[in-house]
Amino acid sequence: NEYTYFEVDQLITEVAGFMSPQSLMKAIEINIINEIYPNNKVFGNRNLLKQVFINAIKNAIESMEKSGNIEIRISLYSNCTISVKVVDQGSGIEKQDIENIFKPFFTTKSAGTGLGLSHSYEVIEAHGGKIEVESNVGIGTTFNFLLPLHGTC
Ligand code: ADP
Ligand code: MG
Repeated sequence: NEYTYFEVDQLITEVAGFMSPQSLMKAIEINIINEIYPNNKVFGNRNLLKQVFINAIKNAIESMEKSGNIEIRISLYSNCTISVKVVDQGSGIEKQDIENIFKPFFTTKSAGTGLGLSHSYEVIEAHGGKIEVESNVGIGTTFNFLLPLHGTC
């Protein structure tokens, strides 16, 4: 559980590269939009946060039936908070499921574990951040990961 200072945009680039074989198999393009380069350092466990974003992109890919785009937008949420939005054009999440998605073992997939988002929730919370979700069935889902930014506060 090593905490270090690192640039979020570099982590995102790494994660997007790692997930690109899986996205390309479905002809899904991952686009990174960085609105706050170069000041995007956070203090945290890089490996745990990497897993959070891998799972978010994996979920996004799995939610999309056919080709399309996944957008990862890095921006300032406030002076002290960085926002990483993962936006997909997938199935969306039913209203009644939204409150359950962060619970361990909740899954709507035949071979899902339901552990990705509950783990992500714990990791983000341990970093003093939070996760927001906005979803429209048939249109897509946006997960917004908020993390305290180092250096500005
Ligand atoms: P798993 O992927 O193993 O099902 P997760 O904890 O990662 O477990 O996700 C839990 C559930 O949340 C998923 O089964 C799905 O119903 C919903 N979900 C998560 N991300 C998305 C997404 N991007 N689009 C649609 N549904 C999602
Ligand atoms: Mg998952």
